[in-house]
Amino acid sequence: MIQETDMTHQQMLDLIQQLNDYSYAYHVKDEPIVPDAVYDRDYRQLQSIEAEHPEWIQADSPTQRVGEKPDSGFTNVAHTVPMLSLDNAFDNESLADFDQRIRKLLNAEQVTYCCEPKLDGLAISLRYEEGRLVRGVTRGDGLSGEDITSNIKTIYSVPLKLRTKTPPAVLEVRGEIYMPKEGFEKLNALAVEQGEKTFVNPRNAAAGSLRQLDPKVTAKRPLVMCAYSIGYVEGWEQPESHYAGLLQLSEWGFRTNDLMTTAEGAQGCIDYYEKLNEKRASLSYDIDGIVYKVDQIALQNQLGFIARAPRWAIARKFPAQEEMTRILGVDFQVGRTGAITPVARLEPVFVGGVTVSNATLHNKDEIARLGVKVNDFVIVHRAGDVIPKVVQVVIDKRPENATEVIFPEACPVCGSDLEQVEGEAVIRCTGGLVCGAQLKESLKHFVSRKAMDIDGLGDKLIEQLVDQQLVKTPVDIFTLSEKKDTLLSMERMGQKSVEKLLASIEIAKSTQFNRFIYSLGIREVGEATARALTSYFTELDDLMAADQETLVEVEDVGPIVAQHVRLFFDQELNRDTIKGLLAAGVVWEKKQQVSADELPLSGKTYVVTGSLSQFSRDQVKDKLQALGAKVSGSVSAKTDCLVAGEKAGSKLTKAQSLNVPIIDEAGVIALLTEHGAI
Ligand code: NAD
Repeated sequence: MIQETDMTHQQMLDLIQQLNDYSYAYHVKDEPIVPDAVYDRDYRQLQSIEAEHPEWIQADSPTQRVGEKPDSGFTNVAHTVPMLSLDNAFDNESLADFDQRIRKLLNAEQVTYCCEPKLDGLAISLRYEEGRLVRGVTRGDGLSGEDITSNIKTIYSVPLKLRTKTPPAVLEVRGEIYMPKEGFEKLNALAVEQGEKTFVNPRNAAAGSLRQLDPKVTAKRPLVMCAYSIGYVEGWEQPESHYAGLLQLSEWGFRTNDLMTTAEGAQGCIDYYEKLNEKRASLSYDIDGIVYKVDQIALQNQLGFIARAPRWAIARKFPAQEEMTRILGVDFQVGRTGAITPVARLEPVFVGGVTVSNATLHNKDEIARLGVKVNDFVIVHRAGDVIPKVVQVVIDKRPENATEVIFPEACPVCGSDLEQVEGEAVIRCTGGLVCGAQLKESLKHFVSRKAMDIDGLGDKLIEQLVDQQLVKTPVDIFTLSEKKDTLLSMERMGQKSVEKLLASIEIAKSTQFNRFIYSLGIREVGEATARALTSYFTELDDLMAADQETLVEVEDVGPIVAQHVRLFFDQELNRDTIKGLLAAGVVWEKKQQVSADELPLSGKTYVVTGSLSQFSRDQVKDKLQALGAKVSGSVSAKTDCLVAGEKAGSKLTKAQSLNVPIIDEAGVIALLTEHGAI
């Protein structure tokens, strides 16, 4: 879609300069200065003005080329067949336009497309002679690239020799080299630990890793190569379709993406887009869109190329996960455990499918590492449901009024002293429940679904109850029935809602031991640890009296967790709270004492994922645990069985790849029935 512009010639020249600067930083330096979304927007603006004024088109315009000339350091090699770029579509309408154009040119009713996830990495061309890898070259400016063969050879998914006795005389394979998310996170965590510079995103990390002059460094980087087309071949008849070519590459030993498929017409392409967009966040690697290619090679040849891209392919981009915006200020939030988290207030920006106006800056060290100042332009990243974060400062755009972020000296809520445990990045308020912020967060945790599960006691109400000093400890929740009148006078609290609230408080008094322990909010004691502790110590008194040596005997409890548990029960305030809760009538059913190894599922590890219809996931977990199983949150080679409900995602894929046995809801119900748990 070309929009009208009213740009002057000089403004266009400036825009070209700007885009060329961005492109140089991105392609040559591997240090992008703005997110892709900003580059893409400016690029489209340039395309519009060039469409309006074809007489203004400059030879150095980025629309006239593919990438940048490579940096020095590696030998430059010409590509046998140019490695082109792809045209982009940013909405379904442009995709339908593309399909219509193709059908018109081919005079066809319907066209079959090969649909491929657009892996966000770097394009590479690999040359095989008589089946042996002889060279790996980057895309460079499309006509020639850098010979990075020694680095390429360190990547295990690149076959050094084709898996066939009758290879083509010459084969040039094109594909993408990328870094899976997990490897990227680990690499960055290591860089932070060693005080080195981190990478902004996996694409950038892959580019930086491939450009290493020392292959030993590249070898340590978790890179993967995935093939997506045959660039050139001699001495072998290519199959008729692109998709069949991909299957052949897979047979020869290349990794191809398992989500690649074919689809009919524009609607088939749109359906595939919707499906993949949903999966995007749960994939183990970054994709920034989908590439659609006319599948029949004869039709591809008929369609040919335009200046910088094939006419028979298009990249449909996903909404950007990185955007640029400005920091208006920094607030300091106090969490449940007193952790002070700096949160950047942003000029609202649309990123990852939603409008974001806050992003975490994690802690004081992170502020220093990013070198971020108030009023700075920053890159914000948001993927899936993950909390948006600031990943980079756009130094080139730093305004004159940029000011230092000042970390508070005392708790911004209660004024108590702050402390930082040696070796930890987090700075905490020492106020405990005296601190209103910590009290509010502790209470929110205490009443949450997996803890005491008090319906009707939402965040807003808790804030009011604390602000009006009606609740000073969790115990006070259970005496709210004595303050009915005050409750009735509160905002949005009618007779009915007050009665409902008091009834659910009453119901919540009968709980389970593991929920009770979890609700206390002991540091590092999540749901799973609370279960482990309560199946080891069946009596509260035993747990409260256990020393650290005994505590580490509990499965999954290490010295740090043991220390937090001990410290928690040593605090008089906490012991009083527990006493108060019991006195207020909190009770749980005692489990029968059975030695752990006598239980039918002892020693087995289960993972529960997806949505179940007859039971909640928590209920199934409880029942499995009651039968002696360990329930873990993530699938690994040690998992004995995955319970996969509807819409199971990455855990299911992982279990399949590790050959972990999988059962569905009916399967787990049968298992629980067999052992008398239901
Ligand atoms: P492109 O990245 O949009 O598309 C072409 C590339 O897609 C190929 O080279 C290949 O690497 C990749 N690809 C992934 N899967 C593929 C598949 N299955 N089949 C074919 N190709 C596949 O276009 P481009 O011309 O390479 O570069 C433009 C991109 O670079 C844009 O996304 C732009 O935002 C970004 N860029 C950003 C900056 C910046 O400053 N942030 C600067 C310049 C360019």
